[in-house]
Amino acid sequence: MKTILRTTMTLVFLIYFNAFAYAQSPNALYQASTINAILQGVYDGELTIKDLKDQGDFGIGTLNGLDGELIGLDGEYYQIKADGQVLKLEGNVKVPFATSSNFKPDRFAELHDLNYEQLQKSLDKITNDKNYFYAVRIDGVFENVKTRAIPKQTKPYKTLTEAAKDQTVFDLNNIKGTIIGFWCPQYVNGVNVPGYHLHFISDDRKYGGHILTGSLKSGKVQIARITDFRMVLPQDASDFGKAALNEDYSEELKAVEQ
Ligand SMILES: [Zn+2]
Repeated sequence: MKTILRTTMTLVFLIYFNAFAYAQSPNALYQASTINAILQGVYDGELTIKDLKDQGDFGIGTLNGLDGELIGLDGEYYQIKADGQVLKLEGNVKVPFATSSNFKPDRFAELHDLNYEQLQKSLDKITNDKNYFYAVRIDGVFENVKTRAIPKQTKPYKTLTEAAKDQTVFDLNNIKGTIIGFWCPQYVNGVNVPGYHLHFISDDRKYGGHILTGSLKSGKVQIARITDFRMVLPQDASDFGKAALNEDYSEELKAVEQ
């Protein structure tokens, strides 16, 4: 009798726990605006860093006016400016495009001596089911990381392709730091970046940016599969509402992201 009661209680607990876990969706992806809006020069948003922090301790994106690159790590958000400065951001700073998540990894690996292509192939074995989203974090030592940051734009805004012509490229050698980003499925084309979109910040928080390429000496990989996706669009329709967002800009995106 006692055994039966205990088994029943365990089952009830498990079912409750699973229902709770499902409702909580620990690995939810929260996104502000769309990548096509950024490609078309919609560089001002209403969402603040505080809003992003409320939705995730981990994330990437850019800042209003396309003022550099955004990276969120362990609950702090940083701006990597085109002049190389890295600033810890206050809650009232606004972003036009960002992707964030509360990072709860469920896949782990140790990787060594890989160029960027080999690194992505190794990650592909972990992000094996390509119908899901994944949050990716790599803490490691890098032989090289090539990053970029785009300088703040002024109105009337150019397209991202044009704005990226003024980008600063940082060649970071023998550096300790963290890669943060997301892998998104091909079917988000136009909404987010299909494939890997990764940003970098050094351990001393002095260097970083949007990763163009790199090579890893050794790193600890943590990945979270994401099964919950939420997108918020700007309330103010003056720019977002008029932008040509229903075109296929995948070639422009590829050229500007790599
Ligand atoms: Zn980026």
